[in-house]
Amino acid sequence: MRVHGEKVIRRRSEIEKKADYHDYLTELKEDFQHMCGYCGKTETITKNAFEIDHFVPKKYDKSRVNDYTNLVYSCYMCNRKKSSKWPSEDGKVQFAGKKGFIDPTTGDYDKHLARNIDGTIYGKTETGKYMEEAFAFKLRPMREIWQLMQLDEKKRQLREKINKSTPNEMYMYIEMDGLLNNLQKILFQNKE
Ligand SMILES: [Zn+2]
Repeated sequence: MRVHGEKVIRRRSEIEKKADYHDYLTELKEDFQHMCGYCGKTETITKNAFEIDHFVPKKYDKSRVNDYTNLVYSCYMCNRKKSSKWPSEDGKVQFAGKKGFIDPTTGDYDKHLARNIDGTIYGKTETGKYMEEAFAFKLRPMREIWQLMQLDEKKRQLREKINKSTPNEMYMYIEMDGLLNNLQKILFQNKE
């Protein structure tokens, strides 16, 4: 299974140049389909705000700080984990041996990282394993988040049908919604 599930994230190519990368937030959210580029978490599932990550860290290529093609919509934790990690001292050198990062808006991302059926994320290649470690996917609740995302989607589908339900069913839905919200709070209390 893919890290982003059914969704494909791509940066649009024609975009008006802006002086400050923060101003690309609206476009980034849309292009990344409101998902973290790295771990595929949806922004609505977490209680913590998403951020803008620089694929090539700012300190290794100053010329790409405000370059849209270098920006990744990222969850709080992926941004912290990646931080200024880069396999070389040169922003233009993306790989050092097998070490390196793959831009999640390229089809190559799926060649290096994937998801098990339970939602855990693993590296398929040496570079994928390097990324798996850099983002600490094994140490984070990726499985729980993925399953919560599935539940949230089922809830959304159920919500559409709820108007035709009996009061008893409606009550069950509200109860379920409350339990899900509690679970979400517990899962995301550690800034994930
Ligand atoms: Zn993430």
